[in-house]
Amino acid sequence: METYASPPAPAPQDRTRLVPAMARGFLNRCPHCGEGHVFGRFLKVRPACEACGLEMEGHRADDLPPYLVIFLVGHIVGYLVLEIEMGYDVPLWISLTVWPLLTLVLALGLLQPVKGAVIGLQYTFGMHGFGKAPPARGGTGTGERRGGDAGTRAGDAPELGSA
Ligand SMILES: [Zn+2]
Repeated sequence: METYASPPAPAPQDRTRLVPAMARGFLNRCPHCGEGHVFGRFLKVRPACEACGLEMEGHRADDLPPYLVIFLVGHIVGYLVLEIEMGYDVPLWISLTVWPLLTLVLALGLLQPVKGAVIGLQYTFGMHGFGKAPPARGGTGTGERRGGDAGTRAGDAPELGSA
């Protein structure tokens, strides 16, 4: 029986390591092959990588990317506001335009990269939809399966049952 407490069945050496996988996701590249794309549109994740066939639709990034973006942008903008408003005599109209604009640009600009990095993290640890063995490295795109294919799609269902 498959339980969620046990580590994922696929051989970990077949997966990209954590930092490169997150960096690839940050740059909108497939965490497995680094060639395909993670996103089809702004925050819409592709069902699968177009280069290697890695299935990505089972990711559960959920609220973590916006949480991290709020954390990052809050610290960046908060620091700048304190530094500049305390050190210089800034006209009110500049304060009222620059800070909200900077916040908006940083938040929108970081949301996709941070979500990609979170998906890269989930891929490396075989979380959620990444429990199956990733495609072979050859780039054939045929989705070769290894022995003990424990991560069937049915295994994803129980998470939704407790609503
Ligand atoms: Zn790929």
